[in-house]
Amino acid sequence: METFEQINRHALMQLIEKLPYKDFKHAVLLFSKMEKLDFNEELSLITAIDFQRRLERLGVNDTCPSCGSDQYTIHAIRKEIKRYRCKDCGKTYTLFSGTVLEKTKWHWDIWVRFLELTIHGYSLKDIQSTLETEFDCTNINHKTVFLWRHKLIYVLAQMSKIKLTNYVHMDGITIRESQKGSRALVNYKNLKLERKPRTGRLSIKKEASDVAYTTIATAVDSSGHCICNVIGMGDGEPEDIFNALKHYLEDDSNTISPSSNKQKTQNTMTEPCEKALLAFDYFKELNVTGMSSSDMSLKLHADIQKFICQDMANVSTKYLEDYLGFFTYMRNWRIDHGRCPLSKNDIESIFIDIIKSGINYSKKRSFASL
Ligand SMILES: [Zn+2]
Repeated sequence: METFEQINRHALMQLIEKLPYKDFKHAVLLFSKMEKLDFNEELSLITAIDFQRRLERLGVNDTCPSCGSDQYTIHAIRKEIKRYRCKDCGKTYTLFSGTVLEKTKWHWDIWVRFLELTIHGYSLKDIQSTLETEFDCTNINHKTVFLWRHKLIYVLAQMSKIKLTNYVHMDGITIRESQKGSRALVNYKNLKLERKPRTGRLSIKKEASDVAYTTIATAVDSSGHCICNVIGMGDGEPEDIFNALKHYLEDDSNTISPSSNKQKTQNTMTEPCEKALLAFDYFKELNVTGMSSSDMSLKLHADIQKFICQDMANVSTKYLEDYLGFFTYMRNWRIDHGRCPLSKNDIESIFIDIIKSGINYSKKRSFASL
């Protein structure tokens, strides 16, 4: 049987669930004063009820996350969080299990705003101060903001792995290796030598002898959707580029890489791919989206270059894969929707996709260098 307090808490929830966060919080404050309850405790309980109701409506974990069975019993309710037990495999789970939200106590609106700030490239400091001003989140530090931003970026990066169809143009681009934020620098050109911090512009000679590059394999199809994969340090062979991307091709797709279009500039290069199935000239003529495939590929490279080296002010190479996947997801989103995600609805729909993806952040990764 439910206690008197629980009934009131749930009844209050129904009244305030549509309120903006500040009003929501104010209502909880009045409620906890009236009922002589601890405000912070109540806020976290009512936030959990609110979140759970939203997850229920979205159908998150409506089947067992371990085996997919829809047969369950309610196992326990702790701090308002329902724990289910699967009748088939016996494992227990909550609606939060397996999602990126598993350990969060934040209100839905804070999450959506946080995602919005992440998507629009706000700095950690700006995200932190925005959460403080808009939501009175005074107990969030720099490290938390970094970790949660990285979780979102990681999940979006995993979600960027789509299949490319029709005509696919593959290529490679190299980006200067970066060890931004690391204390112990590694010399990737020669592991035995010291890697000095780089400041200012390097001479061409120094650039050639000292600077290591990371190769990124890129593929863009005739609809404009793309896949970008970090291959590793040094120049990627055409074979490597194809192998890094072949899993993302629909069976009926045709691939090409421009062998007659070899270019080398300071930061970008295009390499031929031996596995090209169509003649480059034929592919060049193919003008599906108003741009030839090689133009689309070069545009993609320019966008990568801008995102990594300017917008994100050089991403550390160890995080490059995650940031690149995040970039890919956002770029493909723009192709699908014909615009940037600017409205709250757009951001909210991306947030719902994140939750529904069932992808969680891998705990094996280390943040030792923070
Ligand atoms: Zn199960």
